[in-house]
Amino acid sequence: MECRILSIQSHVVRGYVGNKSATFPLQVLGFEVDSINSVQFSNHTGWFCLFRVELETIFYPWYCKDKSFLEVVVSIIQELKKATPGLVYVCDPVMGDHGLLYVPENLLPVYKNEVVPLADILTPNQFEAELLTGRKIKTEDDAVEVMDLLHEMGPDTVVLTSTDLPSKHGDQFLVALGSQKTSKVFRNPDGTSSSQKICMDIPQVDAVFVGTGDLFAAMLLAWTHHHPKDLKTAFEKTVSVMQHVVKRTFTYANEMAGPGNKPSAAQLELRMIQSKADIENPSVVVEAKVL
Ligand code: ADP
Ligand code: PLP
Ligand code: ZN
Repeated sequence: MECRILSIQSHVVRGYVGNKSATFPLQVLGFEVDSINSVQFSNHTGWFCLFRVELETIFYPWYCKDKSFLEVVVSIIQELKKATPGLVYVCDPVMGDHGLLYVPENLLPVYKNEVVPLADILTPNQFEAELLTGRKIKTEDDAVEVMDLLHEMGPDTVVLTSTDLPSKHGDQFLVALGSQKTSKVFRNPDGTSSSQKICMDIPQVDAVFVGTGDLFAAMLLAWTHHHPKDLKTAFEKTVSVMQHVVKRTFTYANEMAGPGNKPSAAQLELRMIQSKADIENPSVVVEAKVL
C-alpha cells in the first residue's frame, strides 16, 4: 500500500531544517511526501544569511509567531482525521529549548488544548514536555510521570528527544526516553499505567546541530510505521540514523574547518544526501533499555 505523508514545516533554500530535513529521508524510505512550507528562508538562523533578509526574520521567524497559523494547522489535521481513518499525526511541538521560549506565550494553551490532543505521536524536548504538563523533570521517575501525563492529554506514543538527565554512562551521553501505550485502557485499576517505557543513552557528538529534531521526528514516523507496536525497535533505528548522520556531519565539518578550528554552523549543516545508505538501512548502533 502506498504511504503518503503531509509534512507541514519550514523550508530553507540552503541547508537542512524543517521540510528540508524530513522530505529526502522519508522519500528514500519509500514514502510519498506532500509538503506545505510554513515559511521559507534562505537558511536557518544559526549562520550568516546567504541572501538579504529582513531583520525580523532573523529572530526565530519560522516558529509560527502567529497563533492563527497554529489554528490553521489544527483545522487541517481535524479535517484530515475525519476524511482518513487511521491517519497518524506526528507533532513536534516547537516551543523552545533549555528554558528559552521561542514562541509567544499565547501559543501554549493552543498546543495544550488543541494540538496535543490530536497528536498520535508527540516528540517534545524536555523543556517542551515540562511546559505542556507544568511539571519539572529532574529524575527519570519525573520523566516517566510527565510522559504518562502527556499520554493522558492524547498521544499514544511520546518521545522525549533530548533531556538534561545525567546518563549512567557519563557526561558524553545524552538521555532520551520514550513511552508507548500498550492497551486502550491506559490506567490499570490500581492507578498504574499500561505502557512500554524505554530509555536510551545517546553518544553525544561535540557540536551543535540544527535540523536534528526535524530529522528525528521524520525517522520516528517512518520506523513506527514499520514497527507500530514495538517502540524499542523504532526508537533504536531512529536514533541509529541520527548517530550516522551527526557523526558523518561532524567528521566532514572538522575536515572543512581545518586543524584547531571550530566548524561553522554552515559547515555543520547535516550531511543528508551523503547519509542516504544509512537512512535506508540503518545499522543499529545504540540499544534502548526497557524501563
Ligand atoms: P530537539 O529539537 O528535540 O531539541 P535535538 O536536535 O536536540 O532535538 O535532538 C534530537 C536528536 O538529534 C537527539 O535525540 C539525538 O539523537 C540527535 N542529536 C542532536 N544533537 C546531537 C549531538 N550533539 N550529538 C549526538 N546526537 C545529537
Ligand atoms: N526551522 C528553522 C527554519 C530553523 O532555523 C531551525 C533552527 O535554527 C529549526 C527549524 C529547528 O531545528 P531542530 O529543532 O530540528 O534542530
Ligand atoms: Zn526541535
